[in-house]
Amino acid sequence: MPNEQQHQHRTKGGFETRAIHAGYEPDEATGAVIPPIYATSTYKQDGVGGLRGGYEYSRSANPTRTALEGNIASLEGGERGFAFASGLAAEDTIIRALCKPGDHAVIPDDAYGGTHRLFDKVARPWGLAHSSAPVSDVDAVRAAIRPGETKLVWIETPTNPLLNIGDIEALASVAHDAGALLVVDNTFATPYLQQPLGLGADVVVHSTTKYAGGHSDVVGGAVVVRTLELAEAISFHQNAMGAVAGPFDSWLTLRGLKTLGVRMDRHCDNAEKVVDFLTGHPAVGQVFYPGLPEHPGHAVASKQMKRYGGIISFRTTGGEQHALEVCARAEVFTLGESLGGVESLIEHPGRMTHASVAGTDLEVPDDLIRLSVGIESVDDLLADLDRALAIGG
Ligand SMILES: *Cc1c(COP(=O)(O)O)cnc(C)c1O
Repeated sequence: MPNEQQHQHRTKGGFETRAIHAGYEPDEATGAVIPPIYATSTYKQDGVGGLRGGYEYSRSANPTRTALEGNIASLEGGERGFAFASGLAAEDTIIRALCKPGDHAVIPDDAYGGTHRLFDKVARPWGLAHSSAPVSDVDAVRAAIRPGETKLVWIETPTNPLLNIGDIEALASVAHDAGALLVVDNTFATPYLQQPLGLGADVVVHSTTKYAGGHSDVVGGAVVVRTLELAEAISFHQNAMGAVAGPFDSWLTLRGLKTLGVRMDRHCDNAEKVVDFLTGHPAVGQVFYPGLPEHPGHAVASKQMKRYGGIISFRTTGGEQHALEVCARAEVFTLGESLGGVESLIEHPGRMTHASVAGTDLEVPDDLIRLSVGIESVDDLLADLDRALAIGG
């Protein structure tokens, strides 16, 4: 299998070195320093079964995808990586590879909407029961586990949009004590800020659509696992279910990952300045950012994250109408869903990303605004917010 070659390629060195080099050696034939986009579905065999480098058919493996998979495995410090057509395709593959009908999973009570829908509307009818618990409450997660039935404890940290923090190390031992696996959705933090496998998690999942790709130009997902046994299960299901990343998407995502470290540092620098600005602003109420000492997850975030990321949520003092006006008036912050790209985005979770949870326990305040702070000149971001926040402006 070509994927077994993932680790032969420069898995040593610091994070930024691996981000740029891991997963690929300059092409044998041409010396190309960047992997070609192998737009091919099949491969010439040297005699029946004589595969070159293990490549047989591009659902099973494609060299551009192999490079991405090796890269992200190295960044997360895992045994192997797998690239998928979307974050949700990656999640679905994890669920069906590691659970069977009759099993049970614990998921965050504020899970990403698509993750909640996948567990509730797709996995549950298939036979996988689930319970929800707040990731910030280790005892609540423990209490939600059904001994003997729970196969997965699934968390996000930080969560969306209130940026709650789960203690990965503590939750890994809670899961393992019950014979379950800990899956961490590391989309918000990225491996630059947080490496869950090193803290005891078994599986890391990403929407690479967000920070990993980083340029809002590709939809993708990734899974990285800690053990060979898990790698075999995911590998089998990746091929059997077929929701793979195509070569061009893999290439874009790999290109994004090369600059993950510098981008994340700038996202964090800018977010910290935006938080400073918001906390002193008369039109702003509560600010949610794990870097704030008063954030309930601050201590745990400080323990397990290098910095606190580029996502900020805050409440306006002018109510829902004002929050909607702020979103409409912002110009450098583009009004839109998604997050993690180089450009700053603003959104109203109550009417946009979290509209589907209105009327449930997951409902978010109607005066809440979420920012994905990009890497533009920070003075422009602050001026834009100042203008957009003006009451009656
Ligand atoms: C976007 C997102 C997903 C889903 O990923 P897609 O690439 O949109 O399928 C999963 N988890 C989190 C935290 C996300 O932000």
